[in-house]
Amino acid sequence: MDKTGSKKKIVIIGGGIAGLSAGIYALKGGFEAEIYEKNAIVGGECMGWNRKGFHIDNCIHWLTGTKKGTELYEVWKTVGALSDDTEYADIDSFYTTVYKGERVTLWNDLERAQKEMIEISPEDEDEIRKFFKYVEYSKQCLLPAAKPMEMWGIRDYIRIGKTMKDFPKVTKEYGGITLDEYSKRFRSPLLQRLMCDYLPKDYSAYAFLVSYATVADGNGNIPMGASLQMSLRMEKRFKELGGKITCNAGVKKIVMDNNTATGIELEDGTFIHADYIIPAIDTYPLFNSLLPEKYMPDELKTAYANPTHYPVTSGFQTAFATSGSFGYGETMMIDIEPLTVGKKTYERMYVKAYDYDPVYIKDGRHVIQTCITQFDEDFEYWKGLSKEEYAKAKEQLVSEIAKRIERAFPVFKDDLEFLDCWTPVTYERYCDAYHGSYMSFIATPGAKMISLKGRLKGTENIYPAGQWTSSTGGLPVAVASGKFAVQRILKSLKKDINI
Ligand SMILES: Cc1cc2nc3c(=O)[nH]c(=O)nc-3n(C[C@H](O)[C@H](O)[C@H](O)COP(=O)(O)OP(=O)(O)OC[C@H]3O[C@@H](n4cnc5c(N)ncnc54)[C@H](O)[C@@H]3O)c2cc1C
Repeated sequence: MDKTGSKKKIVIIGGGIAGLSAGIYALKGGFEAEIYEKNAIVGGECMGWNRKGFHIDNCIHWLTGTKKGTELYEVWKTVGALSDDTEYADIDSFYTTVYKGERVTLWNDLERAQKEMIEISPEDEDEIRKFFKYVEYSKQCLLPAAKPMEMWGIRDYIRIGKTMKDFPKVTKEYGGITLDEYSKRFRSPLLQRLMCDYLPKDYSAYAFLVSYATVADGNGNIPMGASLQMSLRMEKRFKELGGKITCNAGVKKIVMDNNTATGIELEDGTFIHADYIIPAIDTYPLFNSLLPEKYMPDELKTAYANPTHYPVTSGFQTAFATSGSFGYGETMMIDIEPLTVGKKTYERMYVKAYDYDPVYIKDGRHVIQTCITQFDEDFEYWKGLSKEEYAKAKEQLVSEIAKRIERAFPVFKDDLEFLDCWTPVTYERYCDAYHGSYMSFIATPGAKMISLKGRLKGTENIYPAGQWTSSTGGLPVAVASGKFAVQRILKSLKKDINI
């Protein structure tokens, strides 16, 4: 509160998961909170939309923090995203790799997965057993979400050190090699393929073990009801606590008076006063249009200048409706006839069945989706097309992809109804996402982890949040970053940070 007794106001830029989280924690911390979102609805990348009566989900493949008792679960509960009654999809595997007619599945049941992999490739038994031992260790990798790391005391280090005691073995063993390099430790071509089918092959191998462990441990479930609904539950919580949210309100710039932000200017020229600002948007537009570039932290400058070590990914994605099924809720990586997208040719494709939740089913038909991973240079390809070329490229790809799905799964023959397709440029248009990336920088062995702490250097009252403030991004980083930004403001005011 100021001298007149009125509350200090935090203005939050962006109504994605980080912005909504910041808004909710700001209100819990005793501030006034206003969110300004450029789109018509909240959610940002945690999104979904309807086509031809079907709901297309475009986010949660696994939500880290669904395990009760973890710090992150408490955060998801506080922001209204999850509750103790939340139901989760009953999918029993991470994904299946199909390669040259053979298949292997990463079951959530690790013993079953290990047994099947040894049966497939007995000569890899030692490496397989080691893999599962380290996946087991990786279950200990839990995002500490009670408070930002710079506020940890000795007790926090001891507590977290104890709960994660075996995890350093994982980063030591698998942190310095890429998935591509790691896969070569297996002799079976099928297992080699499995290891670098899901995450980009330049990823540090440890990130893959952690992802699988999170899902296998029940800490990465998919809440029923779709991603957009989760964002809307958070918006509801924010409003119930008294927050004000304005959609269709793009922020043009943060208005500075020397080193202090006095407020924001919207695209329509309106000025909004703020005591504190939490920008919860992609950091590229933040430091290239909302604020002068001089405020960009060095670690981000290094990352943007070095895409080889800090690549980002996006996708060319399609959605179809069908009545055929290839596996309940299954995610499959399949062989396809060579398919050229831009300047590259692909021989693998991701396919996922959305038949596990009634929200994706209509009249006995459900949604399936495909994705072809795209990198920085692919973004440049899409970006360089004229409007007509862009539309034509999408149309051709959709038809080629449909043919390939039908070939891989004869059950879909003449039964695929096209719903929609989208590209890296879609993400840029919708969320101002850097190179169309919906995650933060990839964790490669050559990159340092990004971790923006505290107040933005050179300013008095700007506290960034969002997935780009901490690699490798994703929903857990986004939701925790909103909370951390508010705790940092409270700390600067010498107030209780336990909110
Ligand atoms: C296909 C797909 C699958 C994914 N799968 C997973 C998964 O399984 N697990 C996982 O953890 N994560 C996943 N993610 C990533 C996850 O969605 C993001 O990490 C997370 O939603 C990012 O949240 P954020 O709030 O940091 O950023 P954003 O969602 O980008 O939110 C930023 C918001 O700011 C708004 N904005 C931007 N500029 C302005 C401006 N100038 N003025 C006002 N508003 C502005 C944007 O419109 C947006 O709403 C996936 C994403 C996609 C697209």
